[in-house]
Amino acid sequence: MKRICYLLMNVAILATSASAAVYVNPCGIAVGDTAYYRVSVWPASIPDENLVWSADPASRVSFPQGPRGRTVAVRGDVPGDVSLSLSFATQVLGMEQNKPVVQVRVVEPSVVDVNVYIVCSTEGYAAKTPTEAQTIFAGVNDIYRQVGVSFRIVGIHSITNNAWVHIELSNGDWPEARELTAYATNTGGLECYFVQTIANVHGLSHAGGMVLEAASDTRAVAHEIGHACGLKDVYVNSPAETSLAVTDEISRQRLGTAWGSTGERSFYTPGLQQAELLRRLLMYGYDDNSPGCAFSYGDIYGLWYETGWNATNLSWETEWKLSPAPVGFFQHGNPHPVHQ
Ligand SMILES: [Zn+2]
Repeated sequence: MKRICYLLMNVAILATSASAAVYVNPCGIAVGDTAYYRVSVWPASIPDENLVWSADPASRVSFPQGPRGRTVAVRGDVPGDVSLSLSFATQVLGMEQNKPVVQVRVVEPSVVDVNVYIVCSTEGYAAKTPTEAQTIFAGVNDIYRQVGVSFRIVGIHSITNNAWVHIELSNGDWPEARELTAYATNTGGLECYFVQTIANVHGLSHAGGMVLEAASDTRAVAHEIGHACGLKDVYVNSPAETSLAVTDEISRQRLGTAWGSTGERSFYTPGLQQAELLRRLLMYGYDDNSPGCAFSYGDIYGLWYETGWNATNLSWETEWKLSPAPVGFFQHGNPHPVHQ
């Protein structure tokens, strides 16, 4: 299990302080876009016509294909929060009226410019082809459609420098990554650097840009952009670093404002483990074959850490916590991220 990324602390702080995938059930919808919400209802004999979606307030979204069914199309019309809920059109004998509610935000679409930098060697190696970079960002846009954000590549640049092909670890830091991300500054959007390998992690993220391995896929790039937006990693455990771990089932309290639901049972299967839910998140921080690309509306209970400079000990210190992790896009996400 390799950690996906590592958040590089800004050097300035140290000095001064001593393809079109459609993701269902998104937490956001851009104005003018249509999202899809899906719920499993048992038994299968309950007809779709008996399942009716409604929105509160009703003015912020519309149902272009009608409000009925296990899957419903919802168009964003007016910015603001809206609760989508599902109920039975007619009472089904013996069925509990368990009315799931999803918290959604309708947002103005945000378009973020991206410059891509491909590190090459003098022997002709290139960490990505321009086409590969375009394909990755097409997939990233599918993922960020969940929160109304899209990315527009405005430049793909080659950097030939053998010293930056492999980013090595030195005294707990990656000095070449700092040099590399200073190659371009203040481009007005995101700066995404591809290299062949990075020691210990798949990606590095700091204020000056993000650095990713050549093998990075769409999820890895989207995850790193999540950091640029201000979100943190969330884990279920980190045995080498802490004895804290996420155990037990989901609950209303653990789901927070909502990833999903403000209802007691929510959309999720009763008894679902919180750890399994966390693995569905884009900000889940390990590469253990968890393909999750979901955003949560608000923060979700999980294991996470903060790193701070200890001015007395003159060292970086990491504090692990079991609490609501800052992964909620509409609680901590910046839809207009900019690298320095
Ligand atoms: Zn990360």
